[in-house]
Amino acid sequence: MRILITNDDGVYSPGIAALAQVASRFGEARIVAPDVEMSSASHAITSSRPLSYKRTQLPVQVPGVAAYRVNGTPADCVALGVSAWEKVDLVLSGVNIGTNLGNAIWHSGTLAGAKQAALLGLRGIAFSAPATDTEQPSFEALKPSVAAVLERLLGAPGFPLVNVNLPASTPRGMLWTRQSVRHYDGRVIPGKDPMGRVHYWYTVVPIESTDEGTDRWALEQGYVSMTPLRIDLTDEALLAKALAQDAPRKVKLA
Ligand code: MN
Repeated sequence: MRILITNDDGVYSPGIAALAQVASRFGEARIVAPDVEMSSASHAITSSRPLSYKRTQLPVQVPGVAAYRVNGTPADCVALGVSAWEKVDLVLSGVNIGTNLGNAIWHSGTLAGAKQAALLGLRGIAFSAPATDTEQPSFEALKPSVAAVLERLLGAPGFPLVNVNLPASTPRGMLWTRQSVRHYDGRVIPGKDPMGRVHYWYTVVPIESTDEGTDRWALEQGYVSMTPLRIDLTDEALLAKALAQDAPRKVKLA
């Protein structure tokens, strides 16, 4: 099995090396990731300038795994990676420094890497773990959980796109979850730069409690959260309602 590995924290992040170390036990792995941090880049692609694909040395060497840096987004890396390396079966993204739960997955570059795989008809799995302002996740401690998730997901067909979040401490187990859709505050906070000019920070803070069975709930309870996702965003219930209200597919425009 050929496994392409990307992330949005950049190719030199310790999280991608940890993921590659685990992945290389499951197949032939290659790292193709952004040359700089692309967190919150979501599913952006680069279409107005050329991309480059350059071999690089990681701070943590992963035996048997070549690493390439790309001057692009996580989605670019996956598109370029699978065209430069034939017969990729699986794309892994992460391990991200910070969770990607609930509404945050709309902004996540980590998930976009896995999502790009799904758009190309490949399997994609995104991995994220909590971080604080001062501390990165303990990637060494996360490795057994990453391996357990891969064993579970690769042991069964289906599940083209899965968003995985790992708790900070040793997990109580693994749970299948749904995406939390509770709102966040979405506030943009003003501040001042050293020259006295006003600048702004976008903050993402959930404002409501978590629902049982969601990704955020599972993490709060100390479980690994695995959320199966789909590319089709159609709201089936609303579509059925709309079709029932109007003559099927004939909405009067005037
Ligand atoms: Mn990130």
